[in-house]
Amino acid sequence: MNDTIVILGAGLAGLSSSYHLGHDRCVLFEAKHHAGGHIHTEFVDGFTWDEGPHISFTKHQYVRDLFAESVDGEFLEYAVETGNYYQGHWIPHPAQSNLFAVPEPLRSACLRDFHASRETGTDELPANYGEWLHKAFGATFAQTFPAAYTRKYWTLPPERMTTDWVGERVYYPSVDDVTKGAEGPLPEQTHYIKKIRYPARGGYMSYARKLLDGADIRFDHELTHVSFADRRLLFANGASVTFDRLVSTLPLPVLIERSDAPFAVREAATELLCTSLLVVNVTADHPTARPENWVYVYDEDKHATRINCTEKLSPHNAPDGKTGIQVEVYFSKEKPLAESHHDVAAKVCRELVEMGMIESMDRIESVHTQWLRWANVAFDLPRRDALRTVLDWLEGHGLAREADELAPVDDWDTKLGAAAPTGQSIILAGRYAQWKYYWTDDCVLRGADVAACLGT
Ligand SMILES: Cc1cc2nc3c(=O)[nH]c(=O)nc-3n(C[C@H](O)[C@H](O)[C@H](O)COP(=O)(O)OP(=O)(O)OC[C@H]3O[C@@H](n4cnc5c(N)ncnc54)[C@H](O)[C@@H]3O)c2cc1C
Repeated sequence: MNDTIVILGAGLAGLSSSYHLGHDRCVLFEAKHHAGGHIHTEFVDGFTWDEGPHISFTKHQYVRDLFAESVDGEFLEYAVETGNYYQGHWIPHPAQSNLFAVPEPLRSACLRDFHASRETGTDELPANYGEWLHKAFGATFAQTFPAAYTRKYWTLPPERMTTDWVGERVYYPSVDDVTKGAEGPLPEQTHYIKKIRYPARGGYMSYARKLLDGADIRFDHELTHVSFADRRLLFANGASVTFDRLVSTLPLPVLIERSDAPFAVREAATELLCTSLLVVNVTADHPTARPENWVYVYDEDKHATRINCTEKLSPHNAPDGKTGIQVEVYFSKEKPLAESHHDVAAKVCRELVEMGMIESMDRIESVHTQWLRWANVAFDLPRRDALRTVLDWLEGHGLAREADELAPVDDWDTKLGAAAPTGQSIILAGRYAQWKYYWTDDCVLRGADVAACLGT
């Protein structure tokens, strides 16, 4: 395989790398029977299910066009309504600028602490996400809402997370927004995602059609060992190939664990924390019960963390008059799964009834789960050092290093025009390979970047 560029993994980053390098120059090895990775869509009894809710809110025209062409222009574009659920109360999103819907006496306590934190706050940078939350929102709101959500979604207390990933993902409100939002709805919503696009038919995977067309993918090839010294790959089906140039989109801890890396590097890779996700898909024989596209659940006694209805993404995603509710429940080594998938799903169904999203247990028609070992890369305090140790070792084997490799996000506006590192033979691409907060547009753009590194 000396002239061919070997790509590990046929998720979006792998497909995009192959597309931008030229499919005729690449071969992709994929563990599963299908491509798409985390954007794979499945179809069950008339329902369309993505692997967790996927929507496109990219600001990059290149990706917008590529996705639009993939579905022949048949996508839906709409403003989204996002909600929060807290102990029986429905609060518009973001809750910090919609305190009017928070019950008393909690509302007044949030408001009082918010003003106190803004009046007494110093210019000192917060040492962790917990401090950031207190500074941004005051103690009561921080503890009741985002800190509770962080423990559910990231499976960590916010004090153990950094702030470099936050950007505009968590809305930092003005004093005016919070004060006026405690009296009634603001004239304009303040969530960072305002309009989204989603394929009219075929689920989110349809957006990868253009990248997929013509790709040379060897399915059922699970990498079991990589020797960087010998530049050889071994697969679970017995196949073995050598490589000169390698693009890996596999989760970095998997690549390292299955390699000839020394003990200290393998140890560092095990420190990289990623959540796992149990997706619970529930169908009921009645229409959607709520107006929100998706809902964040703050109650820590509930498994449900984020909820969306597949028919709200596209009406073609479910049979008429029925609802398909997808619930995300997160785990990690910090919050191990202690029940069976069946027991978690059963509890989630009771929660949906309690929340009024399903009318009663006997209206439920089906329940099925999907387990995603790799869900969200956690931006915890040890991440940077552990990642640097792994990348330092890979550099000795030809890894292309980048100035922003430790940053959780990439600034594509600056990066794509700038000179990429060239002459290297190992490239990491994608959310779990680079250990970043990548959305689908980042994975597509990283593919273009990979082509710039390896030459077109
Ligand atoms: C719950 C959830 C919701 C999300 N929502 C959105 C959203 O709304 N909008 C958005 O833009 N992004 C969203 N994302 C992010 C998006 O899904 C990812 O950024 C993107 O799909 C990652 O693509 P990737 O190619 O980097 O990785 P992957 O999709 O994981 O691809 C890696 C591939 O490698 C394969 N592989 C793994 N191990 C091996 C092995 N040993 N041998 C061979 N092959 C192997 C896998 O099967 C997979 O196909 C979401 C992610 C999650 C988890």
